[in-house]
Amino acid sequence: MLVNGRDLLAVAHDNDFAVPAFNISDYAMLNGIVDISEEKQAPLIVAIHPDELRHTGDDVMASVIARAHRASVPVAIHFDHGTTYEQILLAIRTGFTSIMIDGSMLPFAENVALTRRATEAAHALGISVEGELGTIGKTDAEAEDGTDAIIYTVPDDAVTFVAETGVDSLAVAIGTSHGIYPSWMKPELKLDLLQDIAAKVDVPLVLHGGSGNPDDEIARSVKLGINKINISSDIKVAYHDKLREVLADTSLREPNTIQPPAIAAMKVTAAQKIDLFDAAGKAALY
Ligand SMILES: [Zn+2]
Repeated sequence: MLVNGRDLLAVAHDNDFAVPAFNISDYAMLNGIVDISEEKQAPLIVAIHPDELRHTGDDVMASVIARAHRASVPVAIHFDHGTTYEQILLAIRTGFTSIMIDGSMLPFAENVALTRRATEAAHALGISVEGELGTIGKTDAEAEDGTDAIIYTVPDDAVTFVAETGVDSLAVAIGTSHGIYPSWMKPELKLDLLQDIAAKVDVPLVLHGGSGNPDDEIARSVKLGINKINISSDIKVAYHDKLREVLADTSLREPNTIQPPAIAAMKVTAAQKIDLFDAAGKAALY
């Protein structure tokens, strides 16, 4: 079934698990991600970044919506990192049931104003909104948006931000970066900061850049108030590592022989995340 982000995350918030938001960039990945979520009976957020939507074309949304309706688990279709009001309106018209407006690179007051405007438009149509406060890092040129240095979320600012914007969920900066961490970089989550934020803010909290962090830290963050975790790099690395291996056999040419092993590898990684986030079997709660 197709649901909006608020309804999806409310159950996660009440039951201390996190819904995985998997970024997909093509049709084979979409099918693989929905299939593994059904196998694990886990609620799902299909996340599509503006760059990914440009790559697939808007027309893919009809298929994403149809697949979500047919799914045996609740699915929200989430527009990841919208940065302008116009982009949010287009996402709403395209059929997303959840949007992110990311004003985190703006000064606080401008972030509040942009997020409130986007939230008013989305809420009028029953679509839920994720805002972001603080900036998360960026590890390489292939990563989504981010800054070189992380600006951590200030708990009292988060309270003000949620109250003034009306967002349904909030992405916080507690030590993650978009992309894959280089070998010399040891990511560390500030779990005490997360606890402070979660104690003061009552909307579900979101972790971006969740690829590559130590499993035990991610598992603890889920029990301390994180209810949505974005996974993009890890599933794409699994997919493309296997693809390179398969393509070593230069006699292959059919996508229906080349892609399935890569999708299977991606599903193994996605299943590990679903378990790590304690989301397996949680579809029964909806
Ligand atoms: Zn992100």
